[in-house]
Amino acid sequence: MRGYHAEMSTKSIREPERDLPVRGEYDVVVLGGGPAGIAAAAAAGMLGRKTLLIERYGFLGGMGTAAGVTNFCGLHANVHGEIRRVVHGVADELLARIDRLGGLNAPHVTFGKIAAQAYDTAAYKCAADDLLLGHGVDLLFHALGAGVIMEPDDTIRALILETKSGRMAVLGRMFIDCSGDGDLAAWSGAPFELGDGRGSMLYPTMMFRVNGVDPAAAGEAWLTVPRLMDEAETRGMRFPRKKPVVRPQKNPIEWRVNVTQMKKPDGSALNGADVDELTAGEIEGRRQAMEFFEFLKREAPGFGNSYIVDTPPQLGIRETRRVSGHYQLTREDVLSCASFPDTIGVNGWPIEAHVAGDVKLEWPDIPGSRGFNHLPYRMLLPQKVRNLLVAGRCASMTHEGQSAARVSGGCFVMGQAAGSAAHLALSGNSALAEIPVEALQGLLEKNGVYLGRDVN
Ligand SMILES: Cc1cc2nc3c(=O)[nH]c(=O)nc-3n(C[C@H](O)[C@H](O)[C@H](O)COP(=O)(O)OP(=O)(O)OC[C@H]3O[C@@H](n4cnc5c(N)ncnc54)[C@H](O)[C@@H]3O)c2cc1C
Repeated sequence: MRGYHAEMSTKSIREPERDLPVRGEYDVVVLGGGPAGIAAAAAAGMLGRKTLLIERYGFLGGMGTAAGVTNFCGLHANVHGEIRRVVHGVADELLARIDRLGGLNAPHVTFGKIAAQAYDTAAYKCAADDLLLGHGVDLLFHALGAGVIMEPDDTIRALILETKSGRMAVLGRMFIDCSGDGDLAAWSGAPFELGDGRGSMLYPTMMFRVNGVDPAAAGEAWLTVPRLMDEAETRGMRFPRKKPVVRPQKNPIEWRVNVTQMKKPDGSALNGADVDELTAGEIEGRRQAMEFFEFLKREAPGFGNSYIVDTPPQLGIRETRRVSGHYQLTREDVLSCASFPDTIGVNGWPIEAHVAGDVKLEWPDIPGSRGFNHLPYRMLLPQKVRNLLVAGRCASMTHEGQSAARVSGGCFVMGQAAGSAAHLALSGNSALAEIPVEALQGLLEKNGVYLGRDVN
């Protein structure tokens, strides 16, 4: 890959010890404002907890906005042949706000089996601000989590932040890691896995959006473009991967394109937790976006007068660290529509493995099965750290299990459960691992969450 530098410096320099200003003390501190962090902070805030959400960018949405994903998957399941919305709760509140701002598409059927729902990033950002402020959550933007202070060894006392106003600390009673990369869990000593255990992970993608499309001429371009790519390959053209997603946004002259793929010189996936690889990936991602766009403009009907209106603030990262918690959600759990007594909500998205040059999907039996698995509370509980929960794409799942439950729907579910569980642990003065699960389930159902216990 162009711009890839693997050299490592062997030198180090000692930073002098210093006292840090304490910015505040909170019941619940959430690191990361993606779908998991939004739901976690909203849940803790609505339950009356003094809650802080810390985000390195100046807006919420995580990969959904920062990486230009612009499409919700995992809100629906194919339940015995009928596509049904199965993720509710905080997700309902967020989607209603996006819709009021005019930024939400109607759900569309995808893969002929399930629904997804596109949105505009500007509306998502404003809707998420409004949702969290409405639940009394304090927001701290432009703050990068950088480390922890443990006291004693198994308890996080403070999260250290780097900001334009300097380095500072935030004290908390409960912490929720929604960083996507398991940053907080890793700093605090919770065991984790990286990728597939063979040096690779789900491949990253640089999304981009195209404006000025003629929607009538483009037609069902999500079907035509893959065919055009196959034809072009017979002429010797090569593409980063198969199975492109080329779909319209709310305004049908604007389309999102999900087709690039970032790999290292040895062909394995670029590591989104490595700053040099990230740097190389941003450059290569934009290059691939421009190259693919030239093909689209030249060959796809309706795209002749279009232009790239946006490459997002960052490369899209699907998987880095996954915490090894009290239970790891597996591929078999997804494909067999597993039930768990400690269900906190459901995942209806299939296995979606971004492998070298392709995307491999594996589904539960449709329509024979109920089309969703339960997500157990134990997948939010890391080992070794008492006052930490982990929600979102870095929660406790195997590499394959994560390829399904990492999408937005599952992250909303995990986030809302984590915020609610932190509240219950504080109320009962109990360890997170010891809260009464029935109380958590009752609270989640009261606040709109579907636990998936009525269908087999
Ligand atoms: C290219 C691509 C396409 C995808 N397509 C879809 C799709 O169509 N539909 C769908 O539902 N899902 C899709 N996904 C998956 C989905 O977007 C993510 O898995 C989901 O956003 C994960 O949510 P999360 O809250 O766990 O983490 P993230 O969305 O990654 O959010 C983590 C947040 O934490 C912040 N953060 C991280 N570290 C720190 C730190 N140290 N300090 C402060 N802030 C920090 C980040 O800035 C970010 O805002 C796609 C993902 C990619 C990459």
